[in-house]
Amino acid sequence: MENNILQLIYLLASITFIVGLKFLGNPASARKGNLIAAFGMGIAIFGTIFLYQNPDSGKHLHNIGFVFAALAIGTLLGFIAAKKVQMTAMPEMVSLFNGMGGACAMLISIIEFQHLNQTLAEPISLVMALTPGFTNALTGKLIIILLGMIIGSVSFSGSMVAWGKLSGNVKDKSLGRQQLINIGLLFVIFAFAYLVIGGNGEHTSLFFYLVLALSLLYGVLFVLPIGGADMPVVISLLNSFTGVAAAFGGFLYDNKVMLVGGILVGSAGTLLTIVMCKAMNRSLLNVLIGNFGGGAKGEAATSSSFEGSIKELTASDAAILMRYAKKVIIVPGYGLAVAQAQHVVHDLELLLESEGVEVKYAIHPVAGRMPGHMNVLLAESNVSYDKLLEMEEINPEFASTDVVLVVGANDVVNPAAKTDPNSPIYGMPILDVENAANVIVNKRSMKAGYAGIENELFFKPKTSMLFGDAKKALTELVNEIKALG
Ligand code: NDP
Repeated sequence: MENNILQLIYLLASITFIVGLKFLGNPASARKGNLIAAFGMGIAIFGTIFLYQNPDSGKHLHNIGFVFAALAIGTLLGFIAAKKVQMTAMPEMVSLFNGMGGACAMLISIIEFQHLNQTLAEPISLVMALTPGFTNALTGKLIIILLGMIIGSVSFSGSMVAWGKLSGNVKDKSLGRQQLINIGLLFVIFAFAYLVIGGNGEHTSLFFYLVLALSLLYGVLFVLPIGGADMPVVISLLNSFTGVAAAFGGFLYDNKVMLVGGILVGSAGTLLTIVMCKAMNRSLLNVLIGNFGGGAKGEAATSSSFEGSIKELTASDAAILMRYAKKVIIVPGYGLAVAQAQHVVHDLELLLESEGVEVKYAIHPVAGRMPGHMNVLLAESNVSYDKLLEMEEINPEFASTDVVLVVGANDVVNPAAKTDPNSPIYGMPILDVENAANVIVNKRSMKAGYAGIENELFFKPKTSMLFGDAKKALTELVNEIKALG
């Protein structure tokens, strides 16, 4: 009876995950989607704690005190972290939390391996050698344990490195011949994994822990050299890894809700990775063996090699240009998030529209520091969703645009992606802002963006720089436009 209720709870929870994911597809319903899925997760957790019975012994979960203590600590830490996090530090936190999911999958595999070892009395491989009838089930279980551990630990250590990189504490580093090293390491990991399953019974535990250590190392080596503008692809890939690793846990425990949750995260992450790969013009295989962007930071042309000079304009010049334009496109970037200028940018849009100017936003898929960053930010200030146009849609429109206002974006409008084969962002499609009649770039200084490279756009004849913090500069711009009457 209790088991039937639990299965029903799992079914309900799985439905909430799917509905939640659907709601997350639109910024207007995303908050609701998050709550629905969190409710589903809540009932699945408490259902498991109180109703789960071991199929062999019929016993309920024990050590409830420890379970609740862990729940309380995790909830408290998560709550404080989410409350305190600055909007700009959100991507780092997402990476950190993703890594925790990978770590959980890794720990499940370690515990289940030890569990198998203990219950069998004899070393695993010996039992498999002696009892062929038993072998298939055991092999299956071991394969799931190993895959969950490999993927989970790569996701864990990779996410930790990504966390360090996003917060600026870890720099890109390539060992040279990185691709070969990574392929070699993968080969060694799978060779040891094979020895755990098909070895002669000696040193099984040693091989198992070697697989663990090398997988952790692989996660580090795989993310460490990723440079330039390629982090978004890796972040979404790590996200899908965590989902897949959790799904292996679901297989292991025959737990439907864990399986569904893991598969949903895994497949959504994989789709996002494919979208990101397309946006960045990279192949998935290259991502998997960590073959791009390596240490190329700063190798692009420097200012001295650019023709032209930097032209600065005042807020009142910018106001005149924009107020009398027919069409304006705003390009938001990471700086918009840093300055928290999403509300004032919306005010600017409304003001221009009230003066008869057509205003649109150009959204580059990797603008900001996490997938969908700009959409989330602009949704917060109630910018209408149909004003946000994706790169392929908006690029042909720049040629018929009077003014492009770039707000805190840099890499996503950097022509080096098209012209400089040495650049770490070479090959990445960019927003073709240069095709517009005038380009106004708002940023605080001439400093580089995430990829660490200079931007020739700032030296082009059509470009003028509006220096200053985005919130301050745009507020001044709004006031100047209002003053024009
Ligand atoms: P960039 O990081 O290229 O540039 C942001 C610019 O904003 C900087 O040059 C900075 O210049 C300016 N800026 C910072 N603070 C302010 C402020 N307060 N007011 C005004 N300007 C400010 O951002 P993009 O959005 O163009 O590109 C995103 C980059 O991040 C890409 O390289 C992408 O690959 C990478 N990335 C994206 C992820 C994603 O999932 N979207 C994840 C990880 C990395 P200054 O200091 O002079 O003001």
